[in-house]
Amino acid sequence: MLPTIAQSIDERIQRKLNVARNQYPGLCYKCCLTVAPGTGHFERHAGGWRVKHGIYPGDGRVTCAEAKANALIQAEKEHELR
Ligand SMILES: [Zn+2]
Repeated sequence: MLPTIAQSIDERIQRKLNVARNQYPGLCYKCCLTVAPGTGHFERHAGGWRVKHGIYPGDGRVTCAEAKANALIQAEKEHELR
């Protein structure tokens, strides 16, 4: 049975948003900050894989902007501890 058009569009959006969720941590090739497992994406690049932050916020994803904000907060905390 063929899926309805609405279903297939929905599936395509889902696949796009969930596509290649990174299972392992790595460094985002866009902002060079760490991407925690499952919070970003990975994609094929030059025969290997590269990791980037979430394209859209929400659903457990962390975007580059959010990662930068978190890194700043973390840096401030570490500074206070010294
Ligand atoms: Zn990033």
